[in-house]
Amino acid sequence: MITGNDTIVAPATAIGGALAVIRMSGPRAFALCDGLFRGSRRISDAAGYTLLYGTLSDGVRTLDDVMVAVFRAPHSYTGEDSVEISCHGSRYIVSEILRLLTENGARMAAPGEFTSRAFMAGKLDLSQAEAVADLIASGSRSAHALATNQMRGGYSADLETLRGELLRLVSLLELELDFGEEEVEFADRTELRRTMERIDTKIGALLDSFKLGNAIKEGIPVAIVGRPNVGKSTLLNRLLNEERALVSEIPGTTRDVIEASITLDGITYRFIDTAGLRVTDDTVERMGIERAYDSIARAQIIIQVVEAGGEMPETIPVRTDQRYLLVVNKIDRIGQGGQQAVPSGGCIPLSAREGSGMEGLLAALQEAVDTSRLDSGETVVSNSRHYAALHEAREALRRALAGLGHLPTDLLSEEIRQVVHHLGTITGEITNDEVLGQIFSKFCIGK
Ligand code: GDP
Repeated sequence: MITGNDTIVAPATAIGGALAVIRMSGPRAFALCDGLFRGSRRISDAAGYTLLYGTLSDGVRTLDDVMVAVFRAPHSYTGEDSVEISCHGSRYIVSEILRLLTENGARMAAPGEFTSRAFMAGKLDLSQAEAVADLIASGSRSAHALATNQMRGGYSADLETLRGELLRLVSLLELELDFGEEEVEFADRTELRRTMERIDTKIGALLDSFKLGNAIKEGIPVAIVGRPNVGKSTLLNRLLNEERALVSEIPGTTRDVIEASITLDGITYRFIDTAGLRVTDDTVERMGIERAYDSIARAQIIIQVVEAGGEMPETIPVRTDQRYLLVVNKIDRIGQGGQQAVPSGGCIPLSAREGSGMEGLLAALQEAVDTSRLDSGETVVSNSRHYAALHEAREALRRALAGLGHLPTDLLSEEIRQVVHHLGTITGEITNDEVLGQIFSKFCIGK
């Protein structure tokens, strides 16, 4: 974990656009910028939240026309004096500015170092800092909503309330300890049990929300299974094409970057093991079964494809936490032979080749994901580190609950302290350098 009060600098934008932003933060940010800046005023004299126009020069030649945004401590992202230099988006200009600033005493920032400084300065808690990275990575409306909610601190407030209640219980229990032999009971055990059970339910709800949160962040895993030749690949291509048709209006969208995933109404569906769909039927015969079962196990939604008028579908194992959709493909063939029928009830008839009936499948996919928690603004856990901490917290809480009748007060309060501890690791009340280092190293440079 890098900390310190040196001045850090980094490009905050990817090269390739018309403009680039270089960010610098630390006690010498203004002085270092003044060393290169030529304008009507010095950066050091400017008020916070002002924008200065001028040029950057290395003393011999003018490098570029720039705008410098000035942020004065503590009113900046990091809480330190900071500047954001907007220059032209040339790789050369950016690297020259960085070279000049670092030669004069700034240091290149480590990934996430601006945000880690913001955390250290108490500008955000750890879960909010993590949400910043999620926000940058968000690729759908729902992932954006999740990250935004967490960044605005909705999550932190919930956890603080829980911790506050637990700390109150612990202090009552510890007061009893202070009275030693006197057998006083400040913490009414019935009330204690009730409060702990209520907190257990709350933690349980947060843990449950992870399935949705994680699915939103990573995309909902969908498996398409069925016998060879029923039209699985054709169906997948049709699904991807529906999506491409939707996004083709957006300039700069290239087919190459589209993976086997689609986004419907803000939720991303990720088709797993799609490479397996494309292998030849021979290969499917040889290795398909096991692989299909593996993708069924990993999926949250299973689409089983059968042919209209074909054989009865084989039974596949579906867990209660998975959604199962039965697609009857090739309905365009009905009528040609006259006697082929579409099985009725609970299935989705369509023709993957001709595209008819696809709306039924799209609606079923959307309906298979319950986003009501997200829509109603409830806290949804999407970070696996938080999930693990909540899990630990619940284990400790359950130990405390189980020992309520017979555990000595000191051990009981120790278990509750463990719950407080694990909840505190989420927001960073309790943390260590190793954890912080791991979290911030996953950030991009310049954030
Ligand atoms: P997979 O082995 O399950 O992936 O099946 P494919 O997608 O490769 O399709 C097998 C064959 O069925 C191909 O010849 C497709 O053109 C054909 N097919 C797929 N969907 C339809 C459909 O909706 N109607 C008709 N008539 N043929 C289809």
